[in-house]
Amino acid sequence: MAAKAKPAGAFIGIREVTLGDSSITHMEQCFSPLKHRTGSVTDRIYEKYAIPNWDLARLRTYLDMIKAFGFNSVQMYDQWESYLDAGWGDKDAIWDSLIEDGWEGEPRDWPGKVDALADYARSIGLRTTLFVWGNTGFDYRTNRAFWALCPNDPAEREILEHYWEHQARHAAHFDHVVTHWGDPGGCSRNGCTIETAQHCHNEIVERCRRHQPKIESSFSLWMLDSKRFGKWPGYEGPRTILDSGLLPDKVMLSVHGEPERFDYGQIRTITDAGRRSGVWAWYLANNEIYPSLFVCTGRLGDHFGGLPADAHERITWHTVDSNNHTVNLHNLYVAGRLCQDPSADAGEALRTFAAGALGAGNVERAVRVLDIIEELRPFWCETYGDKPVDVSLAREAASLAREISIADDFAPGFPMVLSPRELAAELLAQTEALAQFARFLDAAAGVRRRSQKGAPQADVDAAIATLPRVDKPTEYLTHLEYCHYLRKLDALKKT
Ligand SMILES: [Zn+2]
Repeated sequence: MAAKAKPAGAFIGIREVTLGDSSITHMEQCFSPLKHRTGSVTDRIYEKYAIPNWDLARLRTYLDMIKAFGFNSVQMYDQWESYLDAGWGDKDAIWDSLIEDGWEGEPRDWPGKVDALADYARSIGLRTTLFVWGNTGFDYRTNRAFWALCPNDPAEREILEHYWEHQARHAAHFDHVVTHWGDPGGCSRNGCTIETAQHCHNEIVERCRRHQPKIESSFSLWMLDSKRFGKWPGYEGPRTILDSGLLPDKVMLSVHGEPERFDYGQIRTITDAGRRSGVWAWYLANNEIYPSLFVCTGRLGDHFGGLPADAHERITWHTVDSNNHTVNLHNLYVAGRLCQDPSADAGEALRTFAAGALGAGNVERAVRVLDIIEELRPFWCETYGDKPVDVSLAREAASLAREISIADDFAPGFPMVLSPRELAAELLAQTEALAQFARFLDAAAGVRRRSQKGAPQADVDAAIATLPRVDKPTEYLTHLEYCHYLRKLDALKKT
């Protein structure tokens, strides 16, 4: 494949941040024995961490920030996830209705914000991508969302066409549309196959072209490989799409960018066939379903550092996921640096971030805090706390975070969506939760040992009652430790 002209110095030509949503309540649902009745997701938390609740001025600053971090493109969506976050008022009802297909959501002012933000993005030189779920439709007449509508069922098709038309109206503000077909989409009813999805892609793009004749498009292969989340019959891999000849040559194909699923061979297959390829990354710099402050320096360094030299020519665009808003700035900064130069030192990029965000005098402390969080908090956190968490390291992190002090005259080195002092407070809250959890686990292990040695039940019960606690979150996104604490406490009581 012929080398394409790239912006001077940048390894990945189109470096894009996807502005997504954290599944904030999902943590409770997965780990807390009280599920969505845990009550640890407050209105304040939604206000702070869910971007559909931010005002436009702050959202514009977000775009200024990602541009300053080295990205030149942004991906946004007007989808049910944002309505869930914007319509947090009755979370219990949402969870109850999620059990059945077709829950109700409230888009509020998010569709308009998407257009306004896309316009702003273009005004500062960013390219814009619109994310569209292919057959996970939303009926704007009834405000109901549907996981997987059938394009071959006349009644469901009618909802889909209504939904596609709503999406297409955004196209005037966008340069590129990417359609997604797996998790939660897919259909195997009424003769649907992966060919149906490709026909639907073409129809969505055609509708977009009526509003934006020059719009480019990508068909996402995200999750189509998965037995659980890819449900279109007939899909065997990128070759299925390439060989079917249903998508025009200009339609790009994008592959999974999640490090555990990323397959560079698919990029080669697609580009060898003369088609451009993108990488749609999820679970790379953020954990959408278990939102917390994760530090992904090593994860990002491994992913970008592991790209072969010819990725420069073969990868037309590469996204980085941003879902855990404001607690992920360090990851976005490091990713922005590595997209431009995958051979850059990720740790050094983290230091530069710390200097720009918190001031040169705080670099050593802040980097140590972030490094400790990366070491103690597993990105895949399903069994977090099943093994001990190093109490002294967790305490060190909290104590260093407490010492971070922002000078009155400090001005950050780049635009920020929260102030340096707010970031310092976040680091402190996160490390305090970590330290509380580590102390709890340590003490709980002691109680378990006493119980196993035959201590009287009354003594064991008394010991459980006085175990160190993890505070219930009120303002900070510290659910990871809180929900796992409830899970471990519940398990301890049962044994
Ligand atoms: Zn179908």
